[in-house]
Amino acid sequence: MNYDVIVIGGGPAGLSAALYASRGMVKTLVIENSAIGGQITTTNVVENYPGAVDGITGPVLADRMKEQCDSFGVEFKTEVFKTFEKTGDGFKVITDREEYGAKAIIVATGAQPRKLGCPGEDEHRGMGVSYCATCDANFFRNMHIAVVGGGDTAIEEALYLTKFASKVSVIHRRDALRATKVLADRAMASDKIELIWDSVVEEVTGDGLVNGMRLKNVKTGEKQFLPVKGVFMFVGQEPITAPFVGKLELDDRGYLITDVDMHTDVPGVFAAGDVRKKSLRQAITAAGDGAIAGVQAIKYIENLEA
Ligand code: NAP
Repeated sequence: MNYDVIVIGGGPAGLSAALYASRGMVKTLVIENSAIGGQITTTNVVENYPGAVDGITGPVLADRMKEQCDSFGVEFKTEVFKTFEKTGDGFKVITDREEYGAKAIIVATGAQPRKLGCPGEDEHRGMGVSYCATCDANFFRNMHIAVVGGGDTAIEEALYLTKFASKVSVIHRRDALRATKVLADRAMASDKIELIWDSVVEEVTGDGLVNGMRLKNVKTGEKQFLPVKGVFMFVGQEPITAPFVGKLELDDRGYLITDVDMHTDVPGVFAAGDVRKKSLRQAITAAGDGAIAGVQAIKYIENLEA
């Protein structure tokens, strides 16, 4: 099957790219290997997307973006993108199930939570170790749990977790939060959140299920055991760019390098959203990137055909 534009990834960047491409009357396919909406589907309330004033949830916002794409005829396939190859004027896009032709490709594969990498983390994944509060908070009703990290995600999710847990200990490796002030202030004001500063996780312990974690204060060297039933890891993100290594230019952290118009170093291949080297990774900036990539892809196709 041939398309004008194939978008790889169905988060805010991919959906916005598809919306702009399809409104430009080009035949557009979105390939997504899991839930449409990307990382916002694991976000409880989105309160900094313009117009989203009534505490819209991430999944609802994602559904609305998809509906908008549907209304302009965007096609969706739930398949795993494997690779792409240059062919004459266009590209062959290869998934785990099919091969498609495309005149232009927009990479919007996003980013995923980074693992902390401490002993006990992998063994207890899904058994008390989680990377998604919206998905797993309910398992920890009235329990003492921990959040690792001090960025926006950690603090936003710690605040959300206070609705379920009896106590949320936030373990941060420094003595100041990275999170924006509005979130940090809310965390400080919460009587359910305890901040454990200057501390790193040496091990997540358990016997089948998590029963605690060993912490070390990096300033004093003091060690403590925290008897928690759940550990939520929010220590940053890593780009989903493995299929593009050796094909597109990446920075030293693995993010795709584009110019301001979302062109990668391969003509006809664009990148948008969290997968891209940029200074602010948010749903709104992903959507902005997607709009630019969609429009630029149309221009690229028009030039091919001129
Ligand atoms: P982030 O901003 O990179 O923060 C990661 C946090 O994890 C930092 O506090 C970092 O500590 C800590 N960390 C990293 N590696 C660690 C390690 N090995 N051991 C212990 N701690 C470690 O990542 P994020 O919070 O996922 O946010 C990603 C992007 O999304 C950011 O641009 C953020 O602003 C944005 N975001 C925005 C919102 C919102 O606006 N509501 C919500 C979520 C995310 P240090 O501080 O010491 O480096």
